[in-house]
Amino acid sequence: RKRQDSAMAALTAVTADGRKVQLAANVGSPADMPAALAQGAEGVGLFRSEFLFMGRDVPPTEEEQFAAYKEVAEQCGGQLCVIRTMDIGGDKPLHYLNISKEENPFLGWRAIRISLERPDLFMPQLKAILRAGVYGKVAIMLPMVISAAEIRSARQWVQKAAGELAQEGKRFAAAVPLGIMVETPAAAVIARDLASECDFFSIGTNDLVQYTLAVDRGNQAVGALYSHFHPAVLRLIAGVAKAGHDQGIWVGMCGEMAGDPLAAPLLTAMGFDELSMSAPSIPRVKEVIRKIRLEESRELLDKALALTDAGDVRALMQEFNSPV
Ligand code: PEP
Ligand code: MG
Repeated sequence: RKRQDSAMAALTAVTADGRKVQLAANVGSPADMPAALAQGAEGVGLFRSEFLFMGRDVPPTEEEQFAAYKEVAEQCGGQLCVIRTMDIGGDKPLHYLNISKEENPFLGWRAIRISLERPDLFMPQLKAILRAGVYGKVAIMLPMVISAAEIRSARQWVQKAAGELAQEGKRFAAAVPLGIMVETPAAAVIARDLASECDFFSIGTNDLVQYTLAVDRGNQAVGALYSHFHPAVLRLIAGVAKAGHDQGIWVGMCGEMAGDPLAAPLLTAMGFDELSMSAPSIPRVKEVIRKIRLEESRELLDKALALTDAGDVRALMQEFNSPV
């Protein structure tokens, strides 16, 4: 298997009839890069920057963040490195932020909501990302977006960050793409409107499934209900992919579904440009994509979208993946 994986690392993820899908890696720090590259990752589709903020008593400085982003961007070797601004709150609390106790942290003060209210945290992060853009291709990705207004205010902060860097005489990349995670049902439903405000979408299925099905992603008691094959989820993400493409932006996915070989034919049929996953999943997903034909995957998608039960969709995909 290991030998097969390293052989697979050198190949691209292209369907039997020529449709290319970019397979990128999800990382949490520069230390994750060697494993990602060994599996043949084409860039980073999700750098979970919040890990830089955790396990310490004060937030990381602009310099500390710059060093980490620069290292990952450089290691991407000309491929895109998508840096998500900090996704704190929810399941990732930070004692030094003094988030007051919340009944429902997953519905509370988290991610972009914190960033937009705390420029003392947001600005150093944005400045660090823009500076890293000198050393590789970087993009900024906003977590937990629910409105166009959030994207517009974030963009204003990005412009302000660029202005300050110019004044300080620091080198930075002027044109860094700004995209969003589509991980709330609200964002998925208004995807068409959000697409005209940003440069790319990446669907975060871990949260999108949780919020769409009202099933806590970490609660074992409802674990059996948690499925990215639920028709509500499938129809939402198909709509997001179409909305993004209709508006001319690229659409990726960085939740766990992107690394599920069973889902790969459906995502290929929906036209995903990029799938970002934990490094060990890359060879398996690539293997599936290299076997299918686009036309055949579209027939499968039509069948899947007509089903009414998550279990039936999974069974359909299992049957397809293991022909006897
Ligand atoms: C997601 O929600 O799918 C995602 C990729 O982000 P996280 O798992 O960090 O919440
Ligand atoms: Mg998320």
